Amino acid sequence: MDAAELPYYAPVGREVALFEHAFRNRLPLLLKGPTGCGKTRFVSHMAARLGRPLYTVSCHDDLTAADLTGRYLLKGGDTVWVDGPLTRAVREGAVCYLDEVVEARKDVTVVLHPLTDDRRLLPLERTGELLEAPDGFMLVVSYNPGYQNILKSLKPSTRQRFLAIEFDFPEPEAETAIVARESGLERDRVAPLVRLGNALRALKGQDLEEGVSTRLLVYCATLIRDGMAREDAVTAAMIEPLTDDPEVKRALLRAVELTL
Ligand code: ADP
Repeated sequence: MDAAELPYYAPVGREVALFEHAFRNRLPLLLKGPTGCGKTRFVSHMAARLGRPLYTVSCHDDLTAADLTGRYLLKGGDTVWVDGPLTRAVREGAVCYLDEVVEARKDVTVVLHPLTDDRRLLPLERTGELLEAPDGFMLVVSYNPGYQNILKSLKPSTRQRFLAIEFDFPEPEAETAIVARESGLERDRVAPLVRLGNALRALKGQDLEEGVSTRLLVYCATLIRDGMAREDAVTAAMIEPLTDDPEVKRALLRAVELTL
């Protein structure tokens, strides 16, 4: 694919090279980092760059192994097997991205383990098939260590099957360029928003579980580019999504007054 047609992704470190090495060597990859910092965009960029189809699954607490592998469904009186996204990715030699994998049910790890060892197998008990993943297949998972949920962290026996890379929000200059490009707002109008974003991130931990993401900065800049007053855009994109607590909101608004 032509570089200009790839989903836009501005690298923040050596993650592009790591992904390529992992792909070439048939190794699975774990992306760690806060929500909205570019993990999903990175995976779609890399899949396109490597010329592989991409199957993305947002994991949630009801997601079971069968949702990934497939199930028999009734179709006009017949039962037919329908592949799930993981099975399709294995058959086609695609990239399979499981976003927030710790959210999924425990039985999901059972299907992931044989795929992450060097034989790269996907056993489909229900159909009796044993699929061997072709070279083009790559498993990528992400999780957000920031949630600090003991019950929902990845077990060492699972995480140690993956290469891992930590993502964080881009440096201010890079983030300004990203937000400007994504929103269409001029850089010099984006720069104060990024400064504000970093000031709000500094409050994380004391009052806030999560800081402002790059995604929210893009939303905010998009609203301003669309003609919304800056104060209103900041409230809608950078204050209200972060908290419901009136005290915390006041603290955030103080940071806005001091920064903008
Ligand atoms: P995550 O998967 O980490 O929750 P996303 O990949 O969905 O986050 O990123 C949210 C948004 O932030 C993207 O849609 C994109 O607009 C922007 N973004 C964040 N980081 C980057 C980056 N490095 N290059 C390009 N866009 C980025």
